[in-house]
Amino acid sequence: MRCDYHLHSSISADSTTSPFQQIKRAEALGLDEICFTEHLEIHFYRGEDWHVDLLDYKERFAQLTSSSVKIKFGIEAGIALAAEYFSELEDELRSVPCDFVLASAHSVNDIDPFDPAFYEGKTIAHVFRDYISTILTGLKQLNPDLYSSVGHMDFPAKGAHSEKDSRLFYHYAPDEIDALFRYIIPLGKCIEVNTATYRNLGQREVPGEDWLRRYVQLGGEYITFGSDAHSPEYIHYRFDDAAEMARRAGVKYYATFERMKPVFHKL
Ligand SMILES: [Zn+2]
Ligand SMILES: [Zn+2]
Repeated sequence: MRCDYHLHSSISADSTTSPFQQIKRAEALGLDEICFTEHLEIHFYRGEDWHVDLLDYKERFAQLTSSSVKIKFGIEAGIALAAEYFSELEDELRSVPCDFVLASAHSVNDIDPFDPAFYEGKTIAHVFRDYISTILTGLKQLNPDLYSSVGHMDFPAKGAHSEKDSRLFYHYAPDEIDALFRYIIPLGKCIEVNTATYRNLGQREVPGEDWLRRYVQLGGEYITFGSDAHSPEYIHYRFDDAAEMARRAGVKYYATFERMKPVFHKL
């Protein structure tokens, strides 16, 4: 089973790739399944563009077909959100039937990792602690029936900072990572392995083995894989390396989703 459960198209504010181009690339790669996860950011500090119109998205999605790739309807829902807006987010998520919802934080206190201010006066460990705490704060306010997986726990690694090695290591934020895993695992939710940060790795090993091993220790059994591709060349980017790493960490399954229900595949 070859799939990619995190991709964007021009339906999202930050991509200029048509969904048809994304499908074409997935077909060329011989993938079995892809899931579009367009940005749903309500009251986002970067503007209304990031707030996908779900009915319009659903209509455009209905026109997408492929003879070889199964195409799923997903949403990447922003959860770095003020407490008073969560009921509005939940109403939106209930307004259309989804296959998959990725809950992701894209900022901490309205600053994102692409802004040098995100790292100012902080060590990289401190940055990750703040970021992972932000994820957990958001998740605790969101009805667990309304999301499937937790997106890119190592998102700050993508930013414009001065660290040579920006990979997330478990020892940077053990308490925060444990708290996140201890919250999502009993709820039956999972964590995403996002390969977007692999683009800046150079010769270094892919990150994640240490924190995934802890995930398994705490009872985590399955994950999702996502490339976060906003353009065709990154679809399914280094998934073989990601799967190998997850296997070494002891993860048993990865999942695809059908109407919010996980379908497990052996790793
Ligand atoms: Zn994201
Ligand atoms: Zn994304």
